[in-house]
Amino acid sequence: MNNGFQGVVGHKDIIQYIQNAVQQDKVSHAYILNGERGSGKKLLANLFAMTLECEKGGAQPCYECRTCRQIENDNCPDVIKVGHEKPNTISVDDVRTMINNDIIIKPYNAKYKIYIIPDADLLSIQAQNALLKTIEEPPEYAVIFLLAENADSLLATIRSRCVILKLKNIKDKLIKKYLMEQMELPDYQADICTSFAQGNMGRAIMLATSEHFNEIKEETIQILKYINDMDLTELMQAIKRLESYKIQITDCLDLIMVWYRDVLLYKATKDVNGVIFKDQLKYIKNQANKSSYEGIEEILDALEKAKARLKANVNFELVMELLLLTIKEN
Ligand SMILES: [Zn+2]
Repeated sequence: MNNGFQGVVGHKDIIQYIQNAVQQDKVSHAYILNGERGSGKKLLANLFAMTLECEKGGAQPCYECRTCRQIENDNCPDVIKVGHEKPNTISVDDVRTMINNDIIIKPYNAKYKIYIIPDADLLSIQAQNALLKTIEEPPEYAVIFLLAENADSLLATIRSRCVILKLKNIKDKLIKKYLMEQMELPDYQADICTSFAQGNMGRAIMLATSEHFNEIKEETIQILKYINDMDLTELMQAIKRLESYKIQITDCLDLIMVWYRDVLLYKATKDVNGVIFKDQLKYIKNQANKSSYEGIEEILDALEKAKARLKANVNFELVMELLLLTIKEN
């Protein structure tokens, strides 16, 4: 699938920016690509690097020249992926060895020397300060890409010297189209993955290819179907089973969210077309009849709260207990 920018789903504004910058020779020395995991930062940074380095010098990598092929195979000496020694931090030593001491050496073959830092959020403060010196006075041929999930966590001095490219959520219909056309997912499954991916293409692909996703979905549906007949102990056991799939439990919360959005949608419109869990209509309808609008809103609020609490590392069982009680009460 070497169709360059045409193969990218969404991100039209960023692609436009990259192509203009390259064509008009207005390339900055430092960029931050900001977006959540799976949003496409690596893909765009790679395409940017390839477009910069391509020997044909077009607005698009040619995939034929030596440099394009090297970058594609991840063995171009002038495009450096910056890793790190320790798992959870990029240290000042990492930055010195891999960037600062290396950047002074001219590119071997290509026009630019490009550094891609995939987990820039992990840069320690000292590492950022070390990097800052390089970003302040970079060699003419150097371009640095910082890929960050949360650019706000980087030092303001770094941010102010970088062009920040913010990856936006991708429209549901584009994700669904991709899943159906490129991954040959059936309509119904594409709907679930799309809705669950919430604008994140990487996540949609992960779900579409995950062997566990269906099992997780089935478990969650079981809980939602029978929640009114289950006592809290039974519910907690079910939640623990879900946890054992080693997915982030927020994924399960997202599924519950999709379910109650279906309930709300059906209650409000009596229209089944927009319902995601189409194969569970009987239960969606039951729930819509049973719960009031206020009740459903309360459940959706409780889901948001539960997510926030889990993020803040509040005890898992406590969070889930509160959530499930709210669901049972409404
Ligand atoms: Zn090329």
